[in-house]
Order: sequence, then C-alpha cells, then structure tokens
Amino acid sequence: MALRVGLIGDPVAHSLSPAFQQAALDALGIDARYARWHTAAADLPARFAALRAPDVLGANVTLPHKEAAFALVDDVTARAAAARAVNTVVSRDGRLLGDNTDIPGFLAPLGERGLDLPALDAVVLGAGGAARGVVVALLQRGCRSVTVANRRPERAAALIADLGAPPTARPAPLGASLAPALAAAGLLVNATSIGWQGDSLPLDATLLRALPPTALVYDLTYRETPLLRAAGALGLATLDGLRMLVCQGAESLRAWTGRAAPLDVMWSAALAARDGHA
Ligand code: NDP
Repeated sequence: MALRVGLIGDPVAHSLSPAFQQAALDALGIDARYARWHTAAADLPARFAALRAPDVLGANVTLPHKEAAFALVDDVTARAAAARAVNTVVSRDGRLLGDNTDIPGFLAPLGERGLDLPALDAVVLGAGGAARGVVVALLQRGCRSVTVANRRPERAAALIADLGAPPTARPAPLGASLAPALAAAGLLVNATSIGWQGDSLPLDATLLRALPPTALVYDLTYRETPLLRAAGALGLATLDGLRMLVCQGAESLRAWTGRAAPLDVMWSAALAARDGHA
C-alpha cells in the first residue's frame, strides 16, 4: 500500500508542491503519493486527526493554517516554537511533530548568494504566517536590525511581541514613513500576499528609490512580481520565492523520510510546473 503525504491549505489547487514533492519521492524510489488536501478552517482538527494514521508520512501546511497548526500537533521543533507557526507535520507512531522549514528554506538562497546578514539591516513587509518565519530567521542569523512593516501596523507590533524579539526588531506602518528604514536596508523582503494580484505592489514603487544600490529585494511570491520588476528596473538585485519554496520542501521531505532530498530533481520539477517546460 502506498504511503500518503499532502498539502493542507485553503486554497491548494495552484500549489507547485505536489509536482516537485512527487518527483522527489519517485526519484528516491519511495512508494508514496503527495496529495492536495484542501481544508477549510472548520475541518482542520479532523484533518490533523487523520494524519495519525499509520500510512501517513506527514503533511505540509500552507496559508492560512500555519498558526492554527501550531496548536494541533503534539510536539514542535525549536524553530517552530520560535516562530509559533508550523508548515510541516511529521506523523510517527500516531504522534504529530510540527516543524517550520520555511526558516531554513528562506535562508538557503541568501546563503547561496553569500549575504552577510550580521552586517545588514532588513525591512520585512507583512506580518502573517510567512513573515513570522522570516523575522525569526533574520534575528537568529544576527541581522543588525529588522523593521516589520504591515498594512495593519498593530499586527506587526503583535508579531514582534509574540516572538519575544529583541529591540533590534521594530514595527512600522506600510507607507512613506518607511523611507529612512529603507535607506539603511541591505535587504527588503516582501512577505505580504501581494504579488499574486495583478499589478499591485505592497508599497509605493517610488519608495524603492530610497534603497541603497547594493540592496537585495526578495519576494516570497514564487514568480516575478511587479515589485521585483520595479526593483530590477532600478538596477537592484532581485530574488523570487521559488528557491525558498523548493528548499523548504526539501527540508520537509528529509523530515518525513529521513533521506537526503534530491534538490536538483525538485528544482527542475518546480521550474517545469511553474513555467510549463520540462
Ligand atoms: P498571510 O495571509 O498569513 O499574511 C498576509 C500578509 O499580507 C499580511 O501581512 C497582510 O496584511 C498582507 N496583505 C494582504 N493583502 C494586503 C493588501 N491589499 N495590502 C497590504 N498588505 C496586504 O499569508 P502568508 O504569510 O502565509 O503568505 C504571504 C505570502 O508569502 C504569500 O504570497 C505566500 O504565497 C508567500 N509564501 C511563500 C513561501 C515560499 O516558500 N516561497 C512560503 C510561505 C509563503 P494585514 O495583516 O494588514 O492583513
């Protein structure tokens, strides 16, 4: 009987995870199927109860359930505890372990680029589930300061308080008053859900001019976005979220199977699923 693993979220129809996770399971010769488990908030407890079955390896958890998932597992890893958000569940002997692989997934491409985080000030746009992992990752890696700017600034303040973050993490509104923080920033991260929606940018494009010319603009949206296009037009370095998506998935696969993830296979499958070529 094939083992089962899947993606819990709402929506999940357009996710790339099934394509690259199935390719990885097949490449490793593991008889398992990766499914889309579309789950409304009201059905989350039943979905998590079903994960305890012996043929289930675990799950990924995506928008909007990462914070709710934290309360539905039996144990959490230190990094999931730090973020108070779970994006990976490992099912073993009827117990559920919650992990947060968004944290190493987010950091992986920054490491690949050799970014010196302790020498950088960062601005993070957004205060949702993804932003939590990003802020934890940047603080753990010793980023000099992290400004968290959100449409509803009280949510940024709550995120910082909830994480027990040091005074080098500050909340800010998402507007023109962000210019001084941007002027000092070596890294701008978009962790809002704007990027999927038409021509919208999470902040006024003219504010990007405040960034130093050496700044990297990193959008967690896993395709080119209006923000990345505007930053590129100014000559700034840009990075979309596809590498993060694949790297977080590789960490999840390792947690479910105990095997090293075939990163090249996963990357090719993710590119093919996103861009429609093999
Ligand atoms: P959440 O729903 O938890 O948070 C959404 C965030 O976007 C909030 O900060 C919200 O602000 C902000 N936002 C939404 N609409 C607007 C708007 N119209 N104007 C300004 N701000 C807005 O989502 P997640 O944190 O889970 O995901 C955020 C993004 O990150 C998504 O695009 C997701 O695809 C991406 N992501 C990518 C990953 C990867 O591996 N590449 C991994 C995880 C996420 P407010 O609080 O004011 O509502």
